[in-house]
Amino acid sequence: MTRKLAAGNWKMNGTRAALENLSAIAEAHTAPSVDILICPPATLLMQSAGLTSGKPLDIGAQDCHAQASGAHTGDISAPMIKDAGGTAVIVGHSERRENHNETNDLVRQKAQAAHDAGLIAVICIGETLEQRESGQTLEIVGDQLTGSTPEGATPANTVIAYEPVWAIGTGKVPTLDQIGEVHDFIRKSLTDRFGEAAQDMRILYGGSVKPGNAAEIFAVSNVDGALVGGASLKEGDFSPIINALEAAV
Ligand code: PEP
Repeated sequence: MTRKLAAGNWKMNGTRAALENLSAIAEAHTAPSVDILICPPATLLMQSAGLTSGKPLDIGAQDCHAQASGAHTGDISAPMIKDAGGTAVIVGHSERRENHNETNDLVRQKAQAAHDAGLIAVICIGETLEQRESGQTLEIVGDQLTGSTPEGATPANTVIAYEPVWAIGTGKVPTLDQIGEVHDFIRKSLTDRFGEAAQDMRILYGGSVKPGNAAEIFAVSNVDGALVGGASLKEGDFSPIINALEAAV
């Protein structure tokens, strides 16, 4: 079984002073029984990778372009992330889907670019509140999953993050039954498409995970870890979440 994963998404937060928090997280978890990934802003990628080199804490980016290089001002490519010391990249975060009009097709191309560069693609999917309230959750999540996941996805190169849009940064969390329903659905969909290997593909929950709710979320079936935004910025918040995941293994 692939190890569970505690992933942090720092979003557009953090100057070099924030590297203190990264070092503190690394120092607090010198022999973790789960994988730990922090995705700082692109400006801190190289320094973050340098700081954590040789430690059991991986560094990833928050987005990549679908092309490996070219005339794309302001973008960074998957090979550049790899070159900077990254091992993973988040693709299809709802903030990218919404603010940059990213479609499932584009997200799949970005995930493919990540795979081609030897990076793990952390593919985000999730419904809006309106979609949940109109009973479309599984349909939307299913379409996003199928449309955003490349054919060559394996447990080694792909992580799925279920992040209900309405739970991100809001303090609102689905019920444990709702989380379980979607994670079971994602596992079944992955198994239908990729066969038994999909049992080992990690499915993270994301959306207002905090020290106070992490343990109960990690006890839900088919939850293999978390993608954490706000609570990953400080060691004091992220460490208890990592500890809860370790306790759930
Ligand atoms: C996220 O940005 O992926 C996220 C889940 O944010 P938060 O934990 O702050 O809700």
